[in-house]
Amino acid sequence: MIIVMEPGAPQERFEAVCHRVEALGYRAYPIVGVERTVVACVGHEDKSPLQPLESMAGVEAVIPILKPYKLVSREWKKERSVLDVAGIKVGGPELVVMAGPCSVETEESVLEVARAVKADGAQFLRGGAFKPRTSPYAFQGLGEDGLKILRAAADETGLKIVTELVSPADTDLVCQYTDMIQIGARNVQNFALLRCAGASGKPVLLKRGMATTIEEYLMAAEYLMAEGNPNVILCERGIRTFETSTRFTLDLNAIPVIRSRTHLPVIVDPSHGTGHWQYVAAMSKADIAAGADGLAIEVHQDPANASSDGGQSLKPAKFTALMDELRRVAAAVDRTLPAKQG
Ligand code: PEP
Ligand code: MN
Repeated sequence: MIIVMEPGAPQERFEAVCHRVEALGYRAYPIVGVERTVVACVGHEDKSPLQPLESMAGVEAVIPILKPYKLVSREWKKERSVLDVAGIKVGGPELVVMAGPCSVETEESVLEVARAVKADGAQFLRGGAFKPRTSPYAFQGLGEDGLKILRAAADETGLKIVTELVSPADTDLVCQYTDMIQIGARNVQNFALLRCAGASGKPVLLKRGMATTIEEYLMAAEYLMAEGNPNVILCERGIRTFETSTRFTLDLNAIPVIRSRTHLPVIVDPSHGTGHWQYVAAMSKADIAAGADGLAIEVHQDPANASSDGGQSLKPAKFTALMDELRRVAAAVDRTLPAKQG
């Protein structure tokens, strides 16, 4: 339920409403907007109805949220969220670019890629230290050593880190090093992991599962926000269809659908979405044109010898050329990309 306060309702009335909501066993989330103050109430509505609060002083209306997800919905918050992730604004007019290898391999290789993508204007260094691999025999990541490599490269270049968390047990360790947690496609409905990531206090990049509907995906985001974490970024990365020419089918429909249903920023990962470096540039441009707030792109200085996902990784020179093209697409849709550095 959403309780809409009358315009100009005094603070005491607003506080009285919040107290009453909590006394009834709900969590009250106040949202102070430009025109109105509203209180979003999350709890079991069948047990104690909130409709009677309409008679409290200062209350204009009590409106049900019809969607199963609440905190992520646009009914809860009409204006688009612009998040602050370690000083980088996500969801505003400037697009965000997260770039780097699929897996963290060596200190030298990560640093080389970090320097290159930073020079092109990327704000985040991506790279997995804990890898969720389909095969138990495939490279599983360097673990804490990988996190240290990421941190050193980020500190040297000024990039922010986004790296994957695969197990609740590693939450504190990953949080010591990263600026943002990534929850991967395979864990989108790992509810215990979502709760840990949500409660960690770190911003979370939540990837869509390869077989989750948009509604299921937004319910996963609701798990993060229900832990009190407002800093959630969505990432479309392709879904499974009958098509086998590409690794996944990048669902561009998801961008306008997600933007219409939630206030959260949404970015796109065309590397996993296509699975072939040759298609990454075209889909990156399409993502921005369709309204994405940014991109996550795999970049490797020697893709032929990468430990994972080399076939979908761009070499730094190709990434440079793509960023130049993206600046023109961004301008056409009234967005910007950070300028090249140096
Ligand atoms: C990744 O970002 O390297 C990754 C494993 O992505 P996804 O979870 O989307 O497959
Ligand atoms: Mn990958």
